Amino acid sequence: MTLARDGGAPVRTAPFPTCTDASGRTFGPEEVDALAGVIARGRLWRVDAVEVPALEREFARYLDAGEAVASSSGTAALHLAVAALDPEPGDEIIVPPITDFGTVIAVLAAGAVPVFADVDPVTGCLTAETVEPLISDRTRAVIVVHLFGGPADVDGIVRRCRPRDIRVIEDCAQAYLTVPEGGDTFAGTRGDLGCFSLQQSKHITAGDGGLTVTRDPALARRMRLFADKGWPRDTGSRTHLFLGFNYRMTELVGAVARVQLTRLRGVVQARRAVARRLVDALAGLPGLCLPAAGLIDRHSFWLFPILIDAERLGAGNAEYGAALAAEGLPVTPGYLQRPVHLLPALTQRRTFGTSGFPLTSPPARRQMRYAPGDCPVAERMVAQTLLVLECNERFTDADVDDLIAGVTKVHNHFLAAQR
Ligand SMILES: *Cc1c(COP(=O)(O)O)cnc(C)c1O
Repeated sequence: MTLARDGGAPVRTAPFPTCTDASGRTFGPEEVDALAGVIARGRLWRVDAVEVPALEREFARYLDAGEAVASSSGTAALHLAVAALDPEPGDEIIVPPITDFGTVIAVLAAGAVPVFADVDPVTGCLTAETVEPLISDRTRAVIVVHLFGGPADVDGIVRRCRPRDIRVIEDCAQAYLTVPEGGDTFAGTRGDLGCFSLQQSKHITAGDGGLTVTRDPALARRMRLFADKGWPRDTGSRTHLFLGFNYRMTELVGAVARVQLTRLRGVVQARRAVARRLVDALAGLPGLCLPAAGLIDRHSFWLFPILIDAERLGAGNAEYGAALAAEGLPVTPGYLQRPVHLLPALTQRRTFGTSGFPLTSPPARRQMRYAPGDCPVAERMVAQTLLVLECNERFTDADVDDLIAGVTKVHNHFLAAQR
């Protein structure tokens, strides 16, 4: 079969369901009714409101997570978590290089310094071994990202951090109902704080929005104040106790998010069913590394990651991905164009004016420089081996058949060309 890239017929011409519109989102009349109720009551902000406090209670109970604090985005949810720790300017927070920039924005916005640890070559997540050598006397926290919904070894990282009074924040923006190794509780509840996003592309959405969970009431209290200008409204006093922002979630968002939460289990189960079919059909292809079959029920498949053996196939992820895209498959080689530590905001220290704050010394322990070679495993994954396929709860069996046919066709082409 001639590849579409070389003029053959593509496996697929119709678009796949996509999370960017109704085709790949799970909404119903319940969301509309909930919105209409908010409008009818006429109180659209969260002060003395109904929906957002109810969402916080329901989400915390759903995850068995203590308390939840709502905010306006996943990035805000992460900023709440970092700000709750009240780092000194220049304190260090260890982060992974394969993530959304929001993970790092939260660190910089709090005046802290992101220190990038390398990742596991299969999962793309931080490990206890990659984090350990980067711990210094300025390390305040580690942000563990459960990449694509795959579980990072957060328990292993917590074990290294807790004795040294280093906090662990879980970035679960891609990982609703992910179950990390070492227990059957959800990601977001293993560390000190767990951060979730309700942005358009996530498992459940209200357009934008965020939730941060913690079992520590003092951290929860600080986050509530931080998201509302440092204003302790519940004391009746109009005062501002510390620098905070207006990160309040609106009632409109809260109302939609509450309904979406009732759909979450079904969304994740449907994505696992898609992933199971992909793994069953593709796992035998030589030179391809997929999520292990035993991991599927712990993974939430925000995206479906594939690793290719670039030597064996004689092609890197860019060429392989372009061939898949030509077949009509929804694929992104590398997931990112470059790892986060190589974004211009960091390599050029574009933070506050021309100061470079907080990446300069002082306040940092050392002058921070972010450069190629800092995280060789992550750099190689993004540039050579990693591809992500869209994974969506609305994919039909025929959609999954096309994904399987497209990957098989392209893969066999590259394998044959190497023989
Ligand atoms: C989406 C995402 C964020 C940011 O969430 P927003 O709601 O877009 O601000 C942070 N971290 C990860 C891993 C994400 O995927």
